[in-house]
Amino acid sequence: MTQLEQEQYDIAIVGAGPGGYSTALRAAQLGRRVALIERDATLGGTCLNRGCIPSKALITATHAIDTVRRVSELGVNASVDGIDFGRLHDYRLHIIDTMTKGLAGLLAHRGVTVYRGEVAGLSALADHGDGNAARYALTVDASPAAADGQVERYAKAGVGEPVGATVSVTARDVVLATGSRPRPLPGIPFHAAVIDSTHALEINEFPASAVIVGSGAIALEFASMWNSAGCDVTLLIRKDRVLSGWDRRAGVTLTRELKRHGVKIITHSHVTGIDTGANLGATVRYTRDGEDGEHTVWGQIALAAIGRDPITDAAWLADSGVTLDQAGMVVTDDRCRTNLPGVWAVGDITEGPALAHRAFEQGIVVAEAIAGIDPKPVDDATVPQVVFSAPEAASVGLTLDQAQSRDDLESVSETVYPMLGNARMLMSGSAGSMSIVSGAYASDPDVPVVLGVHIVSPLASDLIAEAEQLVGNRVPLHDAARLIHPHPTFAETLGEALLKADGRPLHTR
Ligand SMILES: Cc1cc2nc3c(=O)[nH]c(=O)nc-3n(C[C@H](O)[C@H](O)[C@H](O)COP(=O)(O)OP(=O)(O)OC[C@H]3O[C@@H](n4cnc5c(N)ncnc54)[C@H](O)[C@@H]3O)c2cc1C
Repeated sequence: MTQLEQEQYDIAIVGAGPGGYSTALRAAQLGRRVALIERDATLGGTCLNRGCIPSKALITATHAIDTVRRVSELGVNASVDGIDFGRLHDYRLHIIDTMTKGLAGLLAHRGVTVYRGEVAGLSALADHGDGNAARYALTVDASPAAADGQVERYAKAGVGEPVGATVSVTARDVVLATGSRPRPLPGIPFHAAVIDSTHALEINEFPASAVIVGSGAIALEFASMWNSAGCDVTLLIRKDRVLSGWDRRAGVTLTRELKRHGVKIITHSHVTGIDTGANLGATVRYTRDGEDGEHTVWGQIALAAIGRDPITDAAWLADSGVTLDQAGMVVTDDRCRTNLPGVWAVGDITEGPALAHRAFEQGIVVAEAIAGIDPKPVDDATVPQVVFSAPEAASVGLTLDQAQSRDDLESVSETVYPMLGNARMLMSGSAGSMSIVSGAYASDPDVPVVLGVHIVSPLASDLIAEAEQLVGNRVPLHDAARLIHPHPTFAETLGEALLKADGRPLHTR
């Protein structure tokens, strides 16, 4: 082993996804010496390589198909003559490549040292009572995919220097950001035509038919994307609607819209098995609540998108003494501290919404806490959730039920805005829904605030950003309703809904 004695860092970070790289960027900005260790060949983790970015690249393409299909209604003659999957593949890779290289350049620019290797050990060093001395050593092995069997160190983007088959990196603080992997259906491993989201992003062509199991963001994004591309999609969900943990109206509206677009949704269903064979596709067996016997549905592929599991099962993590909960999540306080002093955890390995933007904020909080800035903790209740389906769904804050069950809230009410009152909605040809949950904190009962906003509409992913400002900053409803929205925009839906919630609707009854 090469002991890199001279390579002592203030902070060593395991995993270069959104949680790890945001910690690195902010810590370097605060003057810390940072090592970022990643086993993949490219930086950016799930998000940039096999999650947010490639999925939205494909959705951008299928969104264009939806647009072309409807333009005849607008008097424009155009048609979709087919999909050139080779070019679509190149487009997706080009987007990923630009983003991951851009990230590598930014990290190098900030002075972050990147190691390409796999962390295989975390051990505490003897305490010499020196407040600046390293407290931990990380053992870094060559990445299993490294052709030369060497760990590579990058001080400059794209210029790796082999530094040995195994190296030891020492640091005062260690940040765990190892992310998550797709969860298989119980007893049904991913194999043959039973695929996970990573595989689904990489298949050469969209399938002619697919059975998707799941009702969360990833399942719905693939359902919409493939449906737009002409695939025969069947969605198997456990409850009566998709997004069953969300605001009821949003879930019901999106379920209806997906069906209207041609997605077959089988509610109250439970997968019991999947039969596959070479080139035979997937016959999915399932039961339904209240019905006898087993049913089957066939797809060229079956995508299981029922959730993701944290990557915390490696022996080195168990040996380190970091406490995990029963689901394998790293147990942390609200500033991402684990039970070991100077060891932190961010992103999908921590309990809470598994989303890139939450991981970014956790990374910032950790870097600032290490620098002694005492940042505000991440408030999971105000992390916006988005589904990039057609139409999109987005939500932030409390649902009506959640607000009504809280003892510290009074005068809770829900305002529903009729989306088709908005000119841009009308032009879009899409249906949707918007509801605002408002109420007053018992400590300030005369000042109602916006507690939650739930939207199904085109561009909901952008509209929710304004709602997040209102909810996250507890803006009084009366002040929020005074804000002026440009006309004619989708954003006016929120302005109109706020006016209605404030008791003075303008363009609605
Ligand atoms: C299909 C799909 C679509 C998504 N779309 C969105 C979206 O639109 N918006 C959104 O906010 N979120 C989205 N997500 C979720 C988002 O990708 C994750 O929440 C985010 O990537 C989590 O960041 P992370 O840093 O915790 O982990 P990850 O991004 O998973 O990164 C962890 C990194 O750690 C590395 N690693 C693990 N173990 C080791 C080790 N021992 N040594 C070295 N490196 C290691 C891994 O290789 C990986 O690169 C999507 C996810 C999927 C699968």
